[in-house]
Amino acid sequence: PRAPQCQVCGRAVVIEIPRHRAAFCAEHLVDHIRGQVRHAIDRHGMLSYDDRVLVAVSGGKDSLALWDVLLDMGYHDGLYLGLGIGDYSQRSEQVVSDFAERRGVTLHAIDLATEFGYSIPDATGVKDRSACGVCGLSKRYVFNKVALDHGYDVMATGHNLDDEAAQLLGNVLRWQTPFMARQSPALAASGGLAKKVKPLYRVGEREMAAYCIVRGLDYIVEECPLVGGNTVHHYKDALNELERHFPGTKAQFLYGFLDKVRDQHFASEADEGNDDGVVACGECGMPTAPPKGKAAHNGDSVRCAFCRTQQRVLSVVSTVR
Ligand code: SF4
Ligand code: ZN
Ligand code: ZN
Repeated sequence: PRAPQCQVCGRAVVIEIPRHRAAFCAEHLVDHIRGQVRHAIDRHGMLSYDDRVLVAVSGGKDSLALWDVLLDMGYHDGLYLGLGIGDYSQRSEQVVSDFAERRGVTLHAIDLATEFGYSIPDATGVKDRSACGVCGLSKRYVFNKVALDHGYDVMATGHNLDDEAAQLLGNVLRWQTPFMARQSPALAASGGLAKKVKPLYRVGEREMAAYCIVRGLDYIVEECPLVGGNTVHHYKDALNELERHFPGTKAQFLYGFLDKVRDQHFASEADEGNDDGVVACGECGMPTAPPKGKAAHNGDSVRCAFCRTQQRVLSVVSTVR
């Protein structure tokens, strides 16, 4: 059979994308990805020209590629959170700071242990909490805090099509409707916190890896050593198996939910643009929702989920050390 050719220019291809029935050379893969990101941004009103945007960068392919794409659009600032996961975290930080230096852009680097007294491996000793659960909570908290402290309007993360479809599958299988309500490529600012956007939600994992290679972006290929505790993995495997038989499954599943289900049935459940009842955490001052069924002003001060979790991790750390 004839070697596949780029559908735009006829040159040799670097990637075929069955769900688009498409094949691209290096140059036109880059165009394709930029186009998908622009489409995502327009469709969901993610960014406007005067927004101050902060990109959360882990050192993995998706977030570095996102930073690369957004740099071309004039959004320059990145945030790296050091999780303290041994060599993996050290190499990640190196990759991210090298990128920032080469491009001459602003990087906010925060170290969890330095700022908050614990690292993610410390959380493995906490009962009834997974390290990944504590990690996710810590990331959300620190991203929000840095955005708030430095006056950013929008937080952008590198979640791709595979991530979002897998997350949705996990939520649907357990009918976790509150999580489904919050699953959106763009969540409006609420309660004093920045807007959150996922400009890569239309681009698959393979395409992101190919983009990084073509653009010469050095990224951390190895996975986090704690990933075994992350259930999303299994949902990704299941979707990849389906995608192999039925190209387009992931995209149909995710876009169908966003277009036909979420807005009609869940949009009112999400707290978008709804600042009612948000109070300041009595400990750290960050905005938080008061516990359900309790008035916010009953005298007890409210502590946010992060402060409660931090205390539990710190108590384990102090017993061990
Ligand atoms: Fe954090 Fe778990 Fe992801 Fe590792 S695998 S970075 S611990 S969420
Ligand atoms: Zn081409
Ligand atoms: Zn707090």
